[in-house]
Amino acid sequence: MSKHQFQTEVSQLLHLIIHSLYSHKEIFLRELISNASDALDKLKYLTISDDAYKGINFDPKIEIRFTGEGKKTLTVSDTGLGMNEQDLVENLGTIARSGTKGFLSHLSGDARKDSNLIGQFGVGFYSTFMVADKVEVVTKKAGEEKAYKWVSDGKGDFEISETEKAGHGTDITAYLNSEGEEYASRWEIESIVKKYSNHVAFPIIVHYTQTTSEGEGDKKKEKKEHKSEQINSASALWKKSKNELTDDDYKEFYKTISHDQDDPLIWLHTQAEGTMEYTTLFYVPKKAPFDMYYADYQPGVKLYVKRVFITDDSKELLPTYLRFVKGIIDSEDLPLNVSREILQQNRVLKTITSASVKKLLGEFKRIADNTPELYDEFISQYNRPLKEGLYSDYAQRDELLELVRFKSTAVEGFTSLAAYKERMKEDQKAIYYITGENEDILRTSPLLEAYRKKDIEVLIMADEIDEIVVPSIGKYQDIELKGINKSGAVDDLKTDDDKKKEKEVKPLAKKIKGVLKDRVKDVVVSSRLSDSPSCVVADEEDPTVQMQHMLKAMGQSNLPDYKPILEINPDHEIVKKLTEKKDDQQLLEDVSFLLLEQAMLIEGAELKSPAEFVQRLNRVMGLAL
Ligand code: ADP
Repeated sequence: MSKHQFQTEVSQLLHLIIHSLYSHKEIFLRELISNASDALDKLKYLTISDDAYKGINFDPKIEIRFTGEGKKTLTVSDTGLGMNEQDLVENLGTIARSGTKGFLSHLSGDARKDSNLIGQFGVGFYSTFMVADKVEVVTKKAGEEKAYKWVSDGKGDFEISETEKAGHGTDITAYLNSEGEEYASRWEIESIVKKYSNHVAFPIIVHYTQTTSEGEGDKKKEKKEHKSEQINSASALWKKSKNELTDDDYKEFYKTISHDQDDPLIWLHTQAEGTMEYTTLFYVPKKAPFDMYYADYQPGVKLYVKRVFITDDSKELLPTYLRFVKGIIDSEDLPLNVSREILQQNRVLKTITSASVKKLLGEFKRIADNTPELYDEFISQYNRPLKEGLYSDYAQRDELLELVRFKSTAVEGFTSLAAYKERMKEDQKAIYYITGENEDILRTSPLLEAYRKKDIEVLIMADEIDEIVVPSIGKYQDIELKGINKSGAVDDLKTDDDKKKEKEVKPLAKKIKGVLKDRVKDVVVSSRLSDSPSCVVADEEDPTVQMQHMLKAMGQSNLPDYKPILEINPDHEIVKKLTEKKDDQQLLEDVSFLLLEQAMLIEGAELKSPAEFVQRLNRVMGLAL
């Protein structure tokens, strides 16, 4: 016998499950059945694809037994793959999923809030400790000799010992606590299985003892009979025709495959016939999966061939930017013994994937057009991955451009590019946008002044990914997208009056450049400012200040020192007065630096020398007072 400690994360998760999910404690049975079903799926695949397993007696089923007297227990057994000693330690002692630490650190300690999070994470096997004060797992891996018993009270450690077991598979016995006693009942079990696991593809059988009385009065005798009954429909839900299925059927099935406690936001069931025959059933979760931004996220789509599970670990089934989609692809055309390795280059699968992408994007568009509230909910979670798609899936760019949403100076909440286009001025030449790290700062940027004055809408792009994606788009339909943090952006807003002023103030701009020297790339007369005396922009060819931050954050340490272009506002009091006093060398120098440095500050950049800045400021204040 060997004793093991749970990994810290498991203990934390156990604590969390017990304290935040108790109002749904019955879901433990769904989780056990779902694991049993996965284990059956895995063995089924091996018996088909691996010669070593071909001789195995595979009789797939899930059985539920209970004892209703004395210490009440409930046992879920499967004839699936089973686990060996190492599997037990790894699977039921640690949480292998990436991002678990990060996930747990987001918890607030407030049970109600956390119960939402834990729903996204998926509770699994450990949820049994909500209803049990002891759990025993007896298991034997298919093709191996030894059987093992795993026992724990869920309080920090578990024990593993060798034991005997007839066939391969796993029996999980919950020693029910006072919270769980009610589940040692045929009716309870039946109603929970019907509610949560009706569409598990293997038979679920409940065993019970029926007591009947015979005879009358003194001769009355109780007769006990062992009975068993299959309680689920045991057919793959996705193979049923759509009109046979209710919303509740779809929702129930989603919960079995996703471990999500919430209903799905959207589902899409497609049964394709013709040159290729396949079925897909896709779901979009209400909340983005917690590991959506981890490189080693768990893919959400499982591949089946003719109802036989093949893999749930292929990132090729859908493009990365649709990694939040959960569900199933079941192909009739792939060979059953398709190896997971060759999936990548498989032509049939490629066709299914690309048809699925089109279907999904089409469905999202339909929702955007017909049910805006639902689409808002969708966008609040998935705008960012869709933007990734703009960058990575050139073929779907037009479709994706209709789906992504942006903040804007013209409307509250989000807008589509189509709606922006509708609002464009008659002679407006481009779709304007400003990028940066923070929406509030962007909204007060001096760069917006000229557009505000002319009542031209600017998209506010504060999502870090915008900086990479949007410049790469180039155009929406036939309209150019122009970043207004760049030097050339306002050229098409210039009036004759602007050009006249430019001429007048140019000598001052030259003088300022003479003072600032190589702190700036250039000093030019601005036509985009109205209230601010100055602003900085990036040269057309250079990355913006935010882009530079991002590149640095991504580990690019040897960036050249990009210099900004300083723009001065010819209509501003400070600039006008400076024109008159431009021969006062000290004043010219102080004001030049102050014009540059205040513009940098507003952009979120740091001062090179705060002390020098303050000295200059004080000198100028001294003159003003
Ligand atoms: P999840 O099912 O989300 O992976 P669980 O905590 O429920 O998380 O289970 C952890 C792992 O334990 C599973 O991934 C599986 O490898 C293993 N496991 C659980 N139940 C069984 C079972 N009945 N038969 C075989 N393996 C199982």
